[in-house]
Amino acid sequence: MPVPLVDLGIQRDRIADEVAEGLARVLATTAFIGGPDVTAFEEEFAAFSGRAHCVGLGNGTDALEFALRAAGIGPGDGVALPANTFVATAEAVLRAGATPVLVDVDDEHLLMDPAALAEVAGGCRAVLPVHLFGQMAPMAAIREIADRHQLVVVEDAAQAQGATHHGIGIGGWGAAAGTSFYPGKNLGAYGDAGGITTDDAALARRVRMLAAHGSEVKYQHPVLGFNSRLDTVQAVVLRAKLRRLAEWNAERVAAADRYAALLADVPGVRLPGVAAGNEHVWHLYVVRVAQRDAVLAELNAAGIGAGIHYPVPVHHTGGLADAGYAHADFPVTVRAAGEILSLPLFPGITVAQQERVAEALTAAVAHRG
Ligand SMILES: *Cc1c(COP(=O)(O)O)cnc(C)c1O
Repeated sequence: MPVPLVDLGIQRDRIADEVAEGLARVLATTAFIGGPDVTAFEEEFAAFSGRAHCVGLGNGTDALEFALRAAGIGPGDGVALPANTFVATAEAVLRAGATPVLVDVDDEHLLMDPAALAEVAGGCRAVLPVHLFGQMAPMAAIREIADRHQLVVVEDAAQAQGATHHGIGIGGWGAAAGTSFYPGKNLGAYGDAGGITTDDAALARRVRMLAAHGSEVKYQHPVLGFNSRLDTVQAVVLRAKLRRLAEWNAERVAAADRYAALLADVPGVRLPGVAAGNEHVWHLYVVRVAQRDAVLAELNAAGIGAGIHYPVPVHHTGGLADAGYAHADFPVTVRAAGEILSLPLFPGITVAQQERVAEALTAAVAHRG
């Protein structure tokens, strides 16, 4: 019995009737862009996140770029971001015309290290922490440094829908959060989608303009914009999933607890933890092992869909290859990139599947021991 890294079919089946009904409604009206489903989703997701506003967008990378632009970040501005993240975080900074300033992460949770941020904050205008693997970056500490240096804070919340830090949800620690509804995310559409959450009405309005050709009134374009609206069809899917997201995140938490119990006494497997003040929504369950590539190959050969998030640190990707960074600049990120291993985790994963993963991982690590 193979175990996939993610099984989106379970969620699809749970909402099939609701999506069919919603799509029929959209097809009947032929209102494919905007309309009541988009507006309703924005209101519902803002409320879910504890924010006043949400603007639905075409994808998460645009969400981060537009949030930065709407917060006044552009050419000449340094934006601090963690070296350990998905490449899109850096793309968004570069596409806003700003300059990425990478900082290392802490060894325990692989989240932006406030001490590393403090070292570069004086040369930056903004900070873009990433709520990685389903838990928030240490926002209280980051906020304090940002306030001291008057940095704009924009959160990358692509992996953290429903997560909180000291009870505050995404977009509540910064000017705004950008998030992604890529299919595999905790809240995933049936294609590309994203959005921002914020308490700042003026910022939300600027993001909405950027996403709609720089326009609020048809054929009036006071600023240069883009085309990155949330599709109505995706809004229908997202509304159906959002109704179940708290329950599905709870299933992720239960699955993470089960892995922690199954793997507690396995030598050579370092388990992920929850940072202080965090409610974790377990987008990914990332353990660390020695000889990771060999362990991963053995798991994959046994039909276990384990993966790596992410094998190449951001400073060695194409967009930043010329920025002059060396591996030695981010020792924690670089070491972790060789050790991290994402285990299958999704709402609906069974106890039997998790036991099989734990058994295969225990064997693979023992074989290398
Ligand atoms: C998925 C993701 C993004 C980008 O989202 P897209 O919708 O694919 O553009 C940005 N940052 C992080 C951390 C992500 O995981």
